[in-house]
Amino acid sequence: MKIGVLALQGDFAAHGRMLSQLGCPWTEIRRADQLGEVDGLILPGGESSTMLKFLCEENLLEPLQEFGKSGKPMFGTCAGAILLAQDVTGPAQASLGVLDIAVQRNGYGRQLDSLVTETDCPALGPEPLELVFIRAPIINRVGPGVDILLEHRDHPVWVRQGNIMAATFHPEMTEDTRMHRKFVEMVETSQD
Ligand code: GLN
Repeated sequence: MKIGVLALQGDFAAHGRMLSQLGCPWTEIRRADQLGEVDGLILPGGESSTMLKFLCEENLLEPLQEFGKSGKPMFGTCAGAILLAQDVTGPAQASLGVLDIAVQRNGYGRQLDSLVTETDCPALGPEPLELVFIRAPIINRVGPGVDILLEHRDHPVWVRQGNIMAATFHPEMTEDTRMHRKFVEMVETSQD
């Protein structure tokens, strides 16, 4: 089993460190022909408009959509969540549309330009979870098939629909590997 980390822009190295800590084999993905080597894919935080530009230049949009639609797990954090979403505003931009949510980019405005806080997260167990928000999107609609795994300030911040998972914060920037462990388990289960 191997997990790919989309490595066109953003904090992909931080995701790689998490996977290495968990002992999970991973590789950087920059071209469509590399997608066949991996069983799941992480889309990192960064700048979604820049990533989108590179995705178009590398002809990666359609292959990534196919990857998600084939049932292979995907996990997007912040900009990665924006790329997965069905609808994007603030401003509007294209996306993979494999996760039935609507997001507003930089939706918290300057108040959440950058914020680190802690919250209970029953989905991960009794230990509190550190939340790192950096110019985060707001999820302002979730479709009927989407499970909300965590809310913060009255908005979903961690969601899952089948094998597609997204968080508007950055677990990869903390020491807590529990969310990545969950994704690794999703990938393992998807192979059964
Ligand atoms: N504001 C960025 C965007 O719209 C996302 C920021 C992030 O990934 N930390 O793409």
